[in-house]
Amino acid sequence: MIFRILTIFPEFFTGPFAHGVVKRGKDAGLLDIQIHNLRDWTHDRHKTVDDRPFGGAEGMVLKAEPIFQAVESIWPERRPDQKVALLSAQGRMFDQGMANRLSHEGELLLICGRYEGVDERVAMHLADEEISIGNYVLSGGELAAAVVIDTIARLIPGVLGNETSASFDSFQDTGHGEGLLDCPHWTRPADFRGWKAPEVLLNGNHEEIRKFRKQAALEKTARLRPDLIT
Ligand code: SAH
Repeated sequence: MIFRILTIFPEFFTGPFAHGVVKRGKDAGLLDIQIHNLRDWTHDRHKTVDDRPFGGAEGMVLKAEPIFQAVESIWPERRPDQKVALLSAQGRMFDQGMANRLSHEGELLLICGRYEGVDERVAMHLADEEISIGNYVLSGGELAAAVVIDTIARLIPGVLGNETSASFDSFQDTGHGEGLLDCPHWTRPADFRGWKAPEVLLNGNHEEIRKFRKQAALEKTARLRPDLIT
């Protein structure tokens, strides 16, 4: 899968994709991440990407033209599996279900807003999706784009070492997790400051371990995220 990011801060992304699972996926050729500088599609001396909002209000708004031009020159003929998503506090809420759905696309281009936001014509006439990562306001779409890409990348087949491991994760309802939280985990030492790892996990009885994990996931979900239990 190819991810593309359209941003006025391309250097922001040197960190987020240089580690762990996402880096391994890139190195293995299972995914690619291309960063595009929005200012490359401006034509004035100052490389202007923003302007004042009509109607008069605080702040500046990212202009529509450079964004449309960027997408149209990146994909002169856009295929149905080449999707555009605008990061926006006003978007539909990103969750594991949306991540699963988007992981089947061929390419995903993420537009990062800044300032007061992006000219509404981008949401209306260019983006396939308007995505929010939560009910709070960030200062830019870059962090949100990194969250979306990190989440989708680990769902691409082969990116996680073990093909099935994503299906046990929290929120996944495609596998054994059934949309609950993941079960809690323990590792050595079995006794840490008197707090013991559950005995059942040490005895090697796989059926008992499976049952224990299922029950522990249910209990933790009921305690911390009752909204996930329907
Ligand atoms: N005035 C806007 C906020 C603009 S914040 C409003 O109140 O809705 C600037 C940019 O940060 C946005 O254009 C968007 O790209 C990004 N952003 C802010 N909050 C976000 C969120 N919760 N999810 C995704 N992107 C967000």
